[in-house]
Amino acid sequence: MSRIAYVAGQYVMHRQAAVHIEDRGYQFADGVYEVIAVNRGHLVDEAPHLARLHRSLAELRIAAPMVDGALQIVIREVVRRNGVDTGIVYLQVTRGAAPREHAFPKAAKPTLVVTARRTRPPDPRLGEDGIAIITIPDIRWQRCDIKSVALIANVLGKQQAREKGAYEAWQVDRAGEITEGTSTNAWIVTADGTVVTRAADTAILNGVTRLAVFDIIRREGYRLEERPFTVAEAKAAREAFLTSTTADLLPVVRIDGAPVGEGRPGPLGQQLRAAYFAHAGAAA
Ligand code: PMP
Repeated sequence: MSRIAYVAGQYVMHRQAAVHIEDRGYQFADGVYEVIAVNRGHLVDEAPHLARLHRSLAELRIAAPMVDGALQIVIREVVRRNGVDTGIVYLQVTRGAAPREHAFPKAAKPTLVVTARRTRPPDPRLGEDGIAIITIPDIRWQRCDIKSVALIANVLGKQQAREKGAYEAWQVDRAGEITEGTSTNAWIVTADGTVVTRAADTAILNGVTRLAVFDIIRREGYRLEERPFTVAEAKAAREAFLTSTTADLLPVVRIDGAPVGEGRPGPLGQQLRAAYFAHAGAAA
């Protein structure tokens, strides 16, 4: 089945899909995006993803390219045309194409791109054995709450992780506190069993998976604290894990080469992971 993309109003062959060279997404990273998981035909947490898309657009003063009802039809059509049963949908909205000039163009029309692709199930060993992360300075801008396509700092951070044989890099602010991963939110479990993750300030993206895990934690009656934590606290934690739409919830068992707890996935993280899978599967 050939891949189809939705680009600025048309369904086109993926390999021929293109936006204009003066699209502001290309020239200024002047745009936002979302990634939504498709789980056995169902869009996981579609509503909070669309809500966050609107928030990101509003923060950048980019008009919504269409009303949600229409957008939902496009998303479903792209999923259908690409035969995606389990995979991801990628949505991108930029301020549009206009002669290159930093200030907003008077008459640009937002460019909407929607793609979808099947994904293989993640390697089960990641969940069973856990993953390693490194820590790096957070060199990003001060509005990481906006899901902007300006991801170069995240790209460099993820590459550093890969080159060190790690799955992810947790970024550290000037106060020595962890903000988040390059494409994931960061969590620890303290010695007394409290789950800790940074509050959704402007230094992190408020992950949709993060919010789903909050619901699970509340429902199951675990203790939760939204506060920053340092690298030292993470290294001394009983457990650590990360969350995102594409990684789900993965146990972190090594930080900068040092084991977290006993160097194996901890019980609380594994319970939350199972509960998150139930949520994502049941999101029908
Ligand atoms: N932080 C960053 C920087 C991200 O790019 C992502 C993934 N888009 C996340 C956190 C996790 O967000 P979500 O759970 O909505 O995928």
